[in-house]
Amino acid sequence: MALTTIFLTTALVTAVFYDFFRQEILNELRVCAEVLEHAGIASAAAGTREEMGRAGLEQFRVSLIDGQGTVVYDNDVDIGGMENHGNRPEVSDARSRGSGQSVRRSDTLERSAFYYAVLLEDGTVLRVAKEASSIWSIFRSAFPVILLMGGAVFLVCMLLSGRATKMLVAPVEYLADHLDECGEAPVYGEMKPFVDQIRRQHEDIVKNARLRQEFTANVSHELKTPLAAISGYAELIEHRMVSGEEIPRFAGEIHRNASRLLAMINDIIRLSELDTMEADAMVFTQVPLYEMAEACVEMLRVSAGNHQVTLSMKGIPCSILGNREMVEEIVYNLCDNGIRYNVPGGKVLVTVEPEGERVCLVVEDTGIGIPKEYQERVFERFYRVDKSRSKATGGTGLGLAIVKHMAAQHHAELLLQSEPGRGTRITILFERAEISDGDSGKETSGSGKDTEVENSE
Ligand code: ADP
Repeated sequence: MALTTIFLTTALVTAVFYDFFRQEILNELRVCAEVLEHAGIASAAAGTREEMGRAGLEQFRVSLIDGQGTVVYDNDVDIGGMENHGNRPEVSDARSRGSGQSVRRSDTLERSAFYYAVLLEDGTVLRVAKEASSIWSIFRSAFPVILLMGGAVFLVCMLLSGRATKMLVAPVEYLADHLDECGEAPVYGEMKPFVDQIRRQHEDIVKNARLRQEFTANVSHELKTPLAAISGYAELIEHRMVSGEEIPRFAGEIHRNASRLLAMINDIIRLSELDTMEADAMVFTQVPLYEMAEACVEMLRVSAGNHQVTLSMKGIPCSILGNREMVEEIVYNLCDNGIRYNVPGGKVLVTVEPEGERVCLVVEDTGIGIPKEYQERVFERFYRVDKSRSKATGGTGLGLAIVKHMAAQHHAELLLQSEPGRGTRITILFERAEISDGDSGKETSGSGKDTEVENSE
């Protein structure tokens, strides 16, 4: 860039100064021609030619051209061999306008010839000419200086840009080696957002890798337990170490463990699907949350009855924007937990109602509750507060992890309130669907509706 700048500047400056130089020479020629004209020593009359020769005008070439274009006098060249000058631009201009000028390249590229011509009273044209350096020769004479400057600038630029580059990439290099360290990298202001972003991404990657590793370890461990049980029971039966009447009990154990295994594998597949699912690949439709929750409550009535729990529902029919299957699974998992972690005679209440721009789904129970210190952790994969109860009731430890994942994909807010011994309340705030005509009618007519689906114990 610097070299180009130097070159262009030199070319431009030369052109501007050469223009001045040209004007100066032409002015000089004009003054000379006028002096000759007014002194009356320039005319075609033969007597005056010697006077002109004596006028000390060696530095100029003076010519006289008559009306036919024939050169009748020239102080420099022998007029004998000269061609007709009538067509020279300065001569024809002088004839038509009284004066004319022109600059032509000389025999060599190095020099230019400058001409100025005036029309004398007797019809002869007086032409004064001079040779001077051409623009090329001036430019060429500046060339060594340009080269010298270019060299110097090149060196300085190399030095400075080397330093600047080092300074610019230093934080990147530092970061590449110290990505795991929490300490501040030596960054300049413009680089900070980039560095922060890279750090955050790196931390996320490390965290994800750790979670995946833990998950794999957990999965192996969780799958091993029921499989070991199944294998053990089957082995006993195989070696006829179980009496005939005990076989149904053993078969029952095998069945229970196999079901657990299946439930776990289903949940693991679900989670891995959720992990790999692109957010924009999900189909979002208008989902009638109230009706869906009602159907879910209906479906779980038998299970609630088995646990001696009363399952009920209240709220207003309203729709949300979501993925039908996922929303169904969220409601099912929450209700199922409310029943399983309850006490005999306890209650589970599902509420669906609009709340401002959003729709609120609440599943609350009067069950065993979750101590404060575990409330964050229950959403982790395979985390269980009460391990034996979870296993006894067919829990996989993945239900709430799936709920949290799905709620996040719906951009829904998930809240948990719980008190040990008193119960748990999980709230999910969904985005409300655009209310169509039919829907709004339903909503107004259904306002304040309280449905209670009692279980048949
Ligand atoms: P699980 O399959 O074991 O029920 P979840 O992910 O659904 O797994 O729940 C994780 C843990 O959170 C459960 O093991 C249980 O200890 C606790 N938990 C979940 N829901 C409730 C609830 N409604 N009341 C009390 N504890 C609960």
